[in-house]
Amino acid sequence: MTSPLNSFQVDAIKSELLTLLKHLREDVGHELQDQEGERVHEAMKEAHDRGDEASAELDATINITNMSRHLGEIKECQDALQRLMNGSYGLCLGCGEEIELNRLKANPVSARCLSCQSKEERVHREGHRASL
Ligand SMILES: [Zn+2]
Repeated sequence: MTSPLNSFQVDAIKSELLTLLKHLREDVGHELQDQEGERVHEAMKEAHDRGDEASAELDATINITNMSRHLGEIKECQDALQRLMNGSYGLCLGCGEEIELNRLKANPVSARCLSCQSKEERVHREGHRASL
């Protein structure tokens, strides 16, 4: 089975993914710098002025959460680019069916069709519940 997209669409999605990847890398770059100083320091200082160091620690934690989310998104982007290269882009990883074009346009890193995605999310939720 080949990708349901024509080469024009593949090019458009490829450049979109590359732009997204660039932005994500910039974000992570900024977040790494933040960890080392300036903005965390600023946040601490502001929090100290508010008499509220705990929330500065929270800010730093949120920063790390953002960073790991961005790293996950970079991975998704790279995977999507790889699928573009090998021609499997646009096909669901779960069932092999074509992913709706509108879905790909809304979220070019989509690797699963809507029904497989919701199945996946349900499994994750149940997995979390089971581990509690
Ligand atoms: Zn599917």
